[in-house]
Amino acid sequence: MTDIYGLTYEALEAELVNIGEKSSRAGIIYPAVYGGLADVFDGLPLKGETLARLRENFSFDAPELLDVRTSETADKYLWKLNDGCTVESVLMKHEFGYNVCVSTQVGCNMGCKFCLSGRLRRRRDLTVSEMTGQVVGIAKHSGCRIGGISVMGIGEPMENLANVLGFIGIMTHPKGLAIGIKHITLSTCGIVPKIYELADSAYPVNLAISLHAPDDALRETIMPVAKRYTLAEIMEAARYYSEKLNRRVTLEYVMLDGVNDSDECAERLAELIGGMNAYVNIIRYNSSPESGFKCSPHERIMGFYDVLKKRGVGVTMRRSLGDDISAACGQLSAGTEK
Ligand code: SAH
Repeated sequence: MTDIYGLTYEALEAELVNIGEKSSRAGIIYPAVYGGLADVFDGLPLKGETLARLRENFSFDAPELLDVRTSETADKYLWKLNDGCTVESVLMKHEFGYNVCVSTQVGCNMGCKFCLSGRLRRRRDLTVSEMTGQVVGIAKHSGCRIGGISVMGIGEPMENLANVLGFIGIMTHPKGLAIGIKHITLSTCGIVPKIYELADSAYPVNLAISLHAPDDALRETIMPVAKRYTLAEIMEAARYYSEKLNRRVTLEYVMLDGVNDSDECAERLAELIGGMNAYVNIIRYNSSPESGFKCSPHERIMGFYDVLKKRGVGVTMRRSLGDDISAACGQLSAGTEK
């Protein structure tokens, strides 16, 4: 059996040929699976013999829904995978539409000090199907039309880039969910060679980089990955990305009270960015009792914001969705692991 959620359109065409069917049948199957969100082949306008062959050869291996927590702005989903591992995803309900935040790994090995996902040591990468399954599962359960995807859940997507690209291929296919490539954002802690690889790939989605500090010394204290790649290397890769694709890169900056939130940090951040086509996305830190970090107070965040503004740096503040349902990375899984 081949799991249909793991197949790009082209891979489905090839599989159809393998089982003695015409590749053009993909044009009927794909819209049914992703447009009608059907998980059976019944009712497709195909000969009985073909339907039987499809049933014999393809399965729909969606993850099992374990728990949903809903709020006005975000719904958090917890899934159980075939091998018993759990992953989470979030449906973000923005005014402009519905976005799904997907996880790319079970746990994460990056070990960022402030992030709960780092405590869930990575056990394995997610398959293409397990990422597709999160989106299809949420679309079915919520009845919402998914307009965008954030590859920002648990895990470091660049460590699982081949599968992430397969997943993006499925999400963007015009006969499937047809999500625009500009409505997909991938966030990385800064795996430099993979930034170039994404830029040169078939799916150069919007790029967000988790910077969180304006210099290597400070960054190393909160993000171990900073020992592997310097900010200079990261900014050079970001510049390549924005120039090649003529697109603005997002630099994420989470506000950690007393750690990275001084005016001086903001000044150095402005210097680092220079004239680059990038903007800073200031993120309120979603604190939890066990994290050991607190979010900067509102006045400090505004002070930091003002310094960047005065220096001419583009800056936005992410609305914090889902505080009340522990929607920050790893919070739900961390809760069930204990
Ligand atoms: N590994 C990728 C994507 C997953 S994390 C990356 O590092 O970018 C997505 C974003 O959420 C990152 O910027 C991460 O640093 C941030 N984050 C992690 N824990 C957080 C928390 N408790 N509150 C706010 N942001 C958090």
